Amino acid sequence: MLSLDAILGLGAALGVGLIAYAWIRRVQAEARTRGLILALEESRRTGEELRLGEARLRRMVEGLSVGVTLHGADGGVVYANAAALALLGATPERLLGHRSIDLEGDALGEEGAPLGPGGDPVLAAIARRGPVRDVVMGLRRAGAEERTWILVSAEPRLDADGALSEVVCTFSDITEQRRAHERIRHLAYHDALTELPNRELFFDRLGVALVQGQRRRQSLALLFIDLDDFKVINDSLGHTVGDAGLRTVARRLKAAVRAADTVARFGGDEFTVLLPGIEQPEDVARIAGKLHEAVRRPIVLDGREVALTSSIGAVLFPKDGQDIETLIRNADTAMYRAKELGRSQTEFYTSALSARVRDRLEVDGRLRQAVASGELELNYQPVVSLPDGRIEGYEALVRWRDPQRGLVPPGDFIPAAEATGAIHEIGAWVLRTACRDLRALPPGSGGPRVAINLSPHQLDTGDIVEQVRRALDDAGVAGPALELEITETVALQDATHKALRRLKELGVRIAIDDFGTGYSSLSYLRRFPIDTVKVDRSFVWDAATNPDASAITRAIIAVGHQLGLRVIAEGIETREQLRLLRVMGCDAGQGYLFCAPVPLDELPDHLARIAEQWAREFPA
Ligand code: C2E
Ligand code: MG
Ligand code: MG
Repeated sequence: MLSLDAILGLGAALGVGLIAYAWIRRVQAEARTRGLILALEESRRTGEELRLGEARLRRMVEGLSVGVTLHGADGGVVYANAAALALLGATPERLLGHRSIDLEGDALGEEGAPLGPGGDPVLAAIARRGPVRDVVMGLRRAGAEERTWILVSAEPRLDADGALSEVVCTFSDITEQRRAHERIRHLAYHDALTELPNRELFFDRLGVALVQGQRRRQSLALLFIDLDDFKVINDSLGHTVGDAGLRTVARRLKAAVRAADTVARFGGDEFTVLLPGIEQPEDVARIAGKLHEAVRRPIVLDGREVALTSSIGAVLFPKDGQDIETLIRNADTAMYRAKELGRSQTEFYTSALSARVRDRLEVDGRLRQAVASGELELNYQPVVSLPDGRIEGYEALVRWRDPQRGLVPPGDFIPAAEATGAIHEIGAWVLRTACRDLRALPPGSGGPRVAINLSPHQLDTGDIVEQVRRALDDAGVAGPALELEITETVALQDATHKALRRLKELGVRIAIDDFGTGYSSLSYLRRFPIDTVKVDRSFVWDAATNPDASAITRAIIAVGHQLGLRVIAEGIETREQLRLLRVMGCDAGQGYLFCAPVPLDELPDHLARIAEQWAREFPA
């Protein structure tokens, strides 16, 4: 029942659809189709509509790769070509008489929302008595899992009286194109490595959440997460391993929050989390706790277990900012503060923090200035051999004589210096000065010896080996006279390992500082070229009163000795602690009981006092 008139209308409908969509050009390229359209258009123009025979046209329509259905005035299908049946996955019996090509009645529209009867192109064309073009429909074909996406146009035909007689519907398969589009869209809004939403999508969602929050008077929370020392993983284990770590972290972060929350990769090792509808800081803290936990669970990377930690900054809308930019900036500031406070924690934004950021910038400028204008000083604390009370050497501890604040202890400026990078200047100065002072320092029982503290960042830079070599050369000092103190966490990194081996080649000694506060695995440390372990002062303080601390101290000393290491106890303050450590077989100790860190020129007096004190305490 395919009327010639309808076929002529079809030509026009096809023409429009084809020109509008580049992706169905392949259809247009199909010679037969082109031939048909040209023939139809030609015949219309010349008015010789009957030049083509109906049977010939019908054969052409049957052969088209474009789906063609013809509908009666009520919308019911009266004809479908082979391509239409194939595209819709329908039998003629099923389709004929049906008022829509959407047999299941649950088609989706372009944005993925249900199209509904109002969106059906054929019914819309009938209602409007005019053409409906380029409607995207996602159909469920019987038995198929995935939807078939088609681009549909419907062209009503009016008879001489202006009454609607029929509708020609044409459609082509755009499933592949749509998939490609979705992929491109996904790529544009997601991070390729972790598959998480990227920064753009996060901004997008945050923007929407802010508008909604304003309208509904709802608050929301935003978290800024930064992995601690992730650079070290990348540098030591390589980027492939680092990437695997990021993927694991991403997956865990996502699993730790609700589906309505957004976890995005903001860049590098930074993640952001959007928590809509959160009102109370306690709730934010609880969720942040879960995220910390998720990051902290050990990850096996490249056959070894790595423990990561993260620092989290938190802001609440509307309290801490009304717009995207302010919220992100303040969350970043809070995160920075969390890092300063010692990492692996959550910090909430406060207006005082902004002031602190200004302070930090100021401190940074002043710190660099401090090195240049000689405001840094080294104090030396004697290290006493515990069996016999002889002086083994000294630990150099830096101070800043700030013209405005007086003498500033390292705990008050080293973290800031590490955060801003000024630590490199400070570290280089300490190294040079301590080596130079070696000649003036009273020699220890085994010759001159000084220990300096190295910041993790100093080992990051790669030129530390060269720096040490030069400092030793310039001061004319032999390698073994210098001991470098690093913390456990730093010692475990592979990049550090390489630097340490090269430092060992210079003959310098390596000590693990504050042992017991980090990973605390001596056997693990065996792989590293270490000479000395310094038991953290918290154990020393508790050893005399707390059986656990005492047991730990004893174990560290025993294992240290088994590995051939020298064990130094830090922070000895009482005679009781000293007696206990001697019984435990600890090699050396330092602490206020002997002497606080003092300027070089005050050392001789203190050394004399220590000798007297020792003789009194432990008469030969
Ligand atoms: P640390 O390396 O563990 O240094 C020992 C700290 O314990 C020193 O504090 C020292 O004054 C203190 N101390 C020594 N004996 C006792 C005691 O009996 N009781 C108590 N309560 N404390 C004692 P200081 O000088 O404030 O240094 C703190 C930390 O700052 C150092 O810990 C070290 O990590 C860092 N630091 C010091 N100088 C430098 C430096 O030149 N470069 C770097 N990167 N860090 C440094
Ligand atoms: Mg130290
Ligand atoms: Mg220490």
